[in-house]
Amino acid sequence: MSAPVEDRRESWDGPVPVPTGATVPFWAATLEGTLRYQACDCGNRQLYPRAVCTDCGAEDPPFEDSEGVGTIYTYTVCHVPGEPGFADRTPYVVGAIELDEGPRLLALLDADPDDLEIGAAVSVTFWRVSDEAAMPVFVPE
Ligand SMILES: [Zn+2]
Repeated sequence: MSAPVEDRRESWDGPVPVPTGATVPFWAATLEGTLRYQACDCGNRQLYPRAVCTDCGAEDPPFEDSEGVGTIYTYTVCHVPGEPGFADRTPYVVGAIELDEGPRLLALLDADPDDLEIGAAVSVTFWRVSDEAAMPVFVPE
């Protein structure tokens, strides 16, 4: 899977992820348009990346590439910006996205709030916001 990566480094005013520790392989893949999750040998799949498996405690669970598609588990429409850099972006939508592979992540939903519904199919795209990271952003299928 390789999703589009749109360069927003010039215009992005929001928070910028700083890759550290277990998140380094995750953010490196985003620059190539790939969304990765951790798939532990015990069967647990998790996202965001962590140094240990949340189920069995194994260290450094390996990464697998997601197909980048899933459904809206739930979402909220933000009318008051959670970050100063989002002030001129309101209303914006934050969703809990359930990937087809199982893990859920919180991400921006780039869509008109009136067009969204729980359970709807979405796919990932990326906004490059720094030299080190591209944010996963989901759009309706
Ligand atoms: Zn495990």
